Formats: sequence, structure tokens, C-alpha cells
Amino acid sequence: MLGLMQDWPLLQSRLIEHAARFHGQREIVTYSVEGPIHRTTYSELQVRAKKFAQAMARLGVEEGDRVGTLAWNTWRHVEIWYGAGGMGAVAHTVNPRLFPEQIIYIVNHASDKVLCIDLTFVPLVEAILDSLKEVRHIVIMTDRAHMPTDTTIPNALCYEDLIAAEDGVYEWPELDENTACGLCYTSGTTGEPKGVLYSNRSNVLHTMVTAGSDTLGVGARDAVLPIVPMFHANGWGVPFVATMTGAKLVLNGPNHDPETMWNILENERVTVTAAVPTIWLSLLKYLKKSGKKLPWLNKVTIGGSAAPRSMIEDFERDFDVRVYHAWGMTELSPLGTIGAHTAATAELDFDGRMDVQSKQGRVVFGVDLRIVDSDGKPQPHDGKAYGHLQARGAWTARSYYNLDEEILDADGYFDTGDVATIDPQGFMQITDRSKDVIKSGGEWISSIDLENAAVAHPDVKEAAVIGIHHPKWDERPLLVLVMEDGKTISKDDMNAFLAERVARWWLPNDVVTVPDIPHTATGKIHKTVLRKQFKDYRFPGL
Ligand code: ADP
Repeated sequence: MLGLMQDWPLLQSRLIEHAARFHGQREIVTYSVEGPIHRTTYSELQVRAKKFAQAMARLGVEEGDRVGTLAWNTWRHVEIWYGAGGMGAVAHTVNPRLFPEQIIYIVNHASDKVLCIDLTFVPLVEAILDSLKEVRHIVIMTDRAHMPTDTTIPNALCYEDLIAAEDGVYEWPELDENTACGLCYTSGTTGEPKGVLYSNRSNVLHTMVTAGSDTLGVGARDAVLPIVPMFHANGWGVPFVATMTGAKLVLNGPNHDPETMWNILENERVTVTAAVPTIWLSLLKYLKKSGKKLPWLNKVTIGGSAAPRSMIEDFERDFDVRVYHAWGMTELSPLGTIGAHTAATAELDFDGRMDVQSKQGRVVFGVDLRIVDSDGKPQPHDGKAYGHLQARGAWTARSYYNLDEEILDADGYFDTGDVATIDPQGFMQITDRSKDVIKSGGEWISSIDLENAAVAHPDVKEAAVIGIHHPKWDERPLLVLVMEDGKTISKDDMNAFLAERVARWWLPNDVVTVPDIPHTATGKIHKTVLRKQFKDYRFPGL
């Protein structure tokens, strides 16, 4: 027997419709690409998203067509998400930090029909334009006054002109909730980038769970700053969460320097924010130097790479800010786990709580997680056994866009490529990416744990650990350090520091310092490039 409840498709357009109706005057503030601070409201944003949909239809965009973006977090970018997704097309966020060849590959693979770009990326698009095969229109996301007069992009369209030409009298179509609405490619640190195609249903379910108090914890009284770019794994869903709850949405545009970030946090009274660890490293350093505080901020979500324990402690102890350490990936929309305390762990002393918060958090409803050994046999959740982390769920990819490749096992699980432990309370801890884990004499050493232990040293700016071939142990760790200006450290001193934090047999066989460590387009340490840089390295005496 079927239930007798109404069929109300979970559509992304319903998020903005709801915000416009019930939180219509709530602000969306952008520290814009052009410079000034721009303020709009959810009701105005919905009208303009509808105008964008009308403009796209006029340009020939049809249901299922891809509308690409090379853009920062701005109100116009949010309009494109709602406008393209709402009309049944697909908003395809392209990461502008990728190499030009990767951007060309992604735009062509997705067959983007329209490409909307910020002023910042005009030179980039000029340089690759000849290789973009199916793009019919390029829209520059600015007003007439700021349109470049000397661009070589033929017939470049002005975003504000397109909006001004429409009347906004438009009803969002009642789509099937499984209709695609967003597309995001993984950054392709291994092989070609792969497209994850989000549906209206998956995005709305993800939003509903991500808003909750044990996840991002966002309500109508909050001011939310998603520093994480909208082109990184669905912007972690943060703009959708703000819209659904009627929170004030604060967008940092192209600004990422710590001083501007602090000004935004302070002036807009931001209560909730989210970003990768590298952003917080520079902000914390700036705060320590300037003596500034974070009086409004309550919660910060850190994910994308492992948050070092020292960072979590600094936020909690020095700034009274709760850190929610989260794990996810593009294929999971991206949320998989997030570190809110249980009733029991909340009672622990500071050290105990920090132990818990350094893990990647508990699995959220909507995702199933398990760890398996190399034969696919599930491993116990005892906090000790580690295995390949697998996921399935309501917002987990079942295949990649336009790739003929089976990605689920017989039980419907997707292999995340991470190695992890899960403890009896459900807290998951990432040991490593499976390709980064160091295999020493049949045992595994976690490069992440070693890196986090090393960055706790006050003179160390950044640390990366890679496995180097060893004739006896197969692989042993090499610690690569970037030191704070003017500082040096010997191998013995570093290992003495590490010995208090990790098992003795994990201690690196050598420690080298370099001026920079390479990063991926999403801010992670680029181990593939680092391994290449050290491919001829041999441990001393071998
Ligand atoms: P990319 O395009 O950079 O691969 P993803 O966001 O999809 O972007 O990357 C997902 C991967 O990032 C995860 O599989 C995991 O290895 C890593 N990751 C994400 N969050 C964390 C975290 N909190 N701790 C450790 N690793 C993380």
C-alpha cells in the first residue's frame, strides 16, 4: 500500500522560492570582483535568477544543456546556480585554478553551451578560446561600465545587459526531482578529471541534512560565509543551506588574503564559515600577529584535507570558536562525515575533546560508510582496524558523467580512495589516501598523521610526507618541510619533536626543507608532483 502524502518534488528552485517568500529581505552580501561591497536580498536574487533563466532560453539553452562558470563566489554566481538549475539546465562550475589544458578538457567534455566568466578570467578564456569546441556564447559577469573594451573574445555578452533585457515573469518548471541541475569535475590528481552530475533531489536532500545542528548548524539568525569556492565540490552546499534557512549569505568574491577575510568576518558579523585548512593557517597567523579576535564567529567547518590538531586547538582555546572537522568528496556532494560531539564526548576534558575533534567526524544520515580490507571484507568499527573507505547513499554518485565505467561494487558501494578507521561511536578517521599511505615492512604509516604532528612545531610552516623506496622495509617516510622565514631545523631535532607524538617506528628516515610544496587546484598537497620531484632521492647511506 502506498502512502497518501503529496508528491512535492525536491527541486532546487524551491529553495530560492521559499527564501524569497519567507526571508525575502534577508541579505546576500558580496565583496565583489569589481571592488565595491554589493548587497542584495533573496527576493531580488530570485527575480534575477528567473531573468537569467529567461536570458538562457533566449540564447537557445534547453533542458539538460550545460551552462559553465569560471567564477568566484558572488551573488551573480548564485543566480546562475538557481537560474540554470531551476530551468532544468545544468550549472557546471569549472575550477579556474586548474591548468588551462584541464579547463579545456572539462569544458569540452561537458559540452558547455554557454560559459559565464568573471572579469578575472577574461585573459584565461582569451588564451584558450580556440580550443573550446562547443561553447556558443561567452557571458562576462559584470555590468556595462566594467565590460572590457579590448577583449579578443568575439561577441562577448554582458551579464547585466542580459538580465536587464528580461522581465522576470517566469514560473520555475515542475521538473522531475531526479533532473540534473549541477555538474562538478573532480580535480583529476589521478587521470583525467571526472564529472559528478548532481540532481535536484540529491542537492535538496544534501541541503536539508547539511543545515542541521550537528552538521553545519545554520539557522535564520546566522550569517554564513562559505569561503570554500562554489567551484569546489558544490561549494560544500553552503549557499543552498543559507538559502533554505534564510541565513544571511556573505560572499568573499576574489578575496582570500587574511586581512580582508578578517574584515569580512568582523563587518558582516559572520557566525558560521567553512574552508580548507590552508585558508585557516594564514588567518590564524594573521590573528596572532595582529592580536585581533573573532567575536562573532561561532563555528568553522574545516575539510578538504585533514585539519591539524594544533589548528583545532587554536580556534577553540584562543578564539572560543567550535571547529567541525568534516570529510567529504565531490562524489558525495560532498558531505560524508562531520565532527559534532556526542553526549559522551562533549563531557571529556579539553585534551579528550581535541582527540575526538581531530578525527574527521561521524557519518551523517543519508550516507552509509564502511571500511573493507583488500578482499572487500568489511572490517570492525573498533577505532583500530583500518580499511578502504566505501560510501553509498542519497547524494553519492552512481556513475560519472559521460564515462563508461562501473564505479559501484556488488553492494552498491563506491570506493572513496581513502583509508580510514571507524570507532565504536561512529567517529571516522582518515589514515591516508590509499595511494599516499606508506607501506613499511607490511605495516602502514599514515602520512597525514606525520604531517599534522610536524606542523605542530612552531617553526614549521607546512609539511608533507611521502614514501621513498627502502631496500629492507619496502618504503620509509621522507618528511618535506617548508620552514617559517629564517628558521631551520635538523633531522634529529625534528624527530625528537615527533617522537612525543607518533610511534617511534614511524619517524621519518630523513627530513628535507624546500621553499614550497606543490598544491592541487583545490588546495591539497600535490603528492603526485612531490613524488616526481623526489623520484631520484635516496635515503642517506643507501
Ligand atoms: P578534489 O577535486 O581535490 O579531489 P575532493 O573534495 O573531491 O576534491 O577530494 C576528496 C578527497 O579529499 C577525499 O577523498 C579525501 O582524501 C580528502 N579529504 C577531504 N576532507 C578531508 C579531511 N577532513 N581529512 C583528510 N582528507 C580529506
